[in-house]
Amino acid sequence: MRALGGLVLAVWLCACEAVATAPTPATSTPAPAVGSPTATISAPRSATPAPTRAPMWGLQACEPDAACNTIVDTLNRISLAKMNDHLLALTGVGSRDPRHPGHAKAVAYIKEQLGALAYYGWKIESQRTVYQGIPLENIFASIEGATAAWSGSIIPPLPPSTTSILVSAHYDSIANRTPGWRPALDPAPGADDNATGTAALLEFARVISQGVREQLRSRIVLAFFDGEELFFKGSGAYVSSLEKPYRYKAAINLDMVGFNPLADRLDLLWYTDVSAGLRDEVMKANRLYSIGISPLNPQFAMDGNTIMDAAPFGLAGIPSIALCQRYGDNDSTFPGNYTFHTVNDTPDKITNARLWLKAAKLTLATALELAR
Ligand SMILES: [Zn+2]
Repeated sequence: MRALGGLVLAVWLCACEAVATAPTPATSTPAPAVGSPTATISAPRSATPAPTRAPMWGLQACEPDAACNTIVDTLNRISLAKMNDHLLALTGVGSRDPRHPGHAKAVAYIKEQLGALAYYGWKIESQRTVYQGIPLENIFASIEGATAAWSGSIIPPLPPSTTSILVSAHYDSIANRTPGWRPALDPAPGADDNATGTAALLEFARVISQGVREQLRSRIVLAFFDGEELFFKGSGAYVSSLEKPYRYKAAINLDMVGFNPLADRLDLLWYTDVSAGLRDEVMKANRLYSIGISPLNPQFAMDGNTIMDAAPFGLAGIPSIALCQRYGDNDSTFPGNYTFHTVNDTPDKITNARLWLKAAKLTLATALELAR
C-alpha cells in the first residue's frame, strides 16, 4: 500500500480538482442532464432525424451472429429511467459513508433490489471486514449460464463455470472536501461518485436475468464494494481473500460516469501489462457495438496510486480496467466536476445522462463478450 501522501495526491487527480482553466466548449450539442429541467430520460434528443430502426442511443452494429444480436438486445434493454430511479434512492439515504446511518439504508436497498431477482438464479452474498474500527460490507450478486431462457419451470443448469467475470462499482460515498464535514452526521450524497456506477450495476442484474444467460460460459459477478473512499479497503480485502489460482478472467470497474457537459468521453485505466488484452477488448466493444464513447482514452496505471477498485485486482495480476469520466487534469473535453467529494455531489450534477448510459452499455457489452 502506498504512503498516504501519494494516495491523497492521486485522489486529487482522480477528482479532476487540479487547477483548471476555463473550459473550451468542444461540442455544439450540450449533453442531456438527468437533473436538469430540460433533461429527457426516456427519449433521446437529436438534432437530426433519427433513423427508423436505430434510435440515437441504440446500438446499430455487431458481427452477424446470433450471440452478438442477443447482446445487442440486452444492451438496448438497459433503462436510463431505471438507473435514475436507483440513483435517486441511493442519494436519498443522505450519506453512504460507512460511519453514517444512511449507509445501512443503502445496503438494505441494494440487497432488496438484488433479492427481487434471486428467482432468476442470482446468488447474493456479503463480505464483511473492518478498517480502523469502521465496519465495511461488500455485496456480491453472481449468476451462472443457463441452458434456456428462464420460464419459471426447473431448467437444467449448465455445469458451474470455471471462470468468472467481475463487474464492480463502489457504493460508499464521502464529502470530506466540504469544510467541517462530519462523517457520522452530515450528508454525502455521492451522486456522480458513485451512485452512477452502482445504479448501472443494479440495472445489469435486471437485464442479464433473461435471454443472454444462454450464452454465458463464465459466471458474472456483480460486486458492490464498500470503503473505496477509504482507499479501496473493501475491494482490497476481497482480493486478499481470493484463492489462487484466480478464477477471474477480468475485473471491470465503473466509477464516476455521469458528469461531463462537454463530451461523451471516458478514460480507460488499465493495470500492468496483464491488462492490455482487456483494454483492447473494451476498445473493440466500443466499436463492435457502436457504443459511441468518444474519446475513449486508455491510460496505463502502473501502481496503486490510481485510487479505484480496479487497482487491487490489477496489482494482483488479474486483468483489470476502470472506466471513469476523467482520471487526471481537466482538458478541452473535461471541465472538472467540482462537487466531487462534497455535500453538493447531488443528482442534478449528473450533467450527461447520455454518457452515463453509454458507459453502462460499454461495461456490460465488454463483460458479456468476455463471458460468452
Ligand atoms: Zn468513486
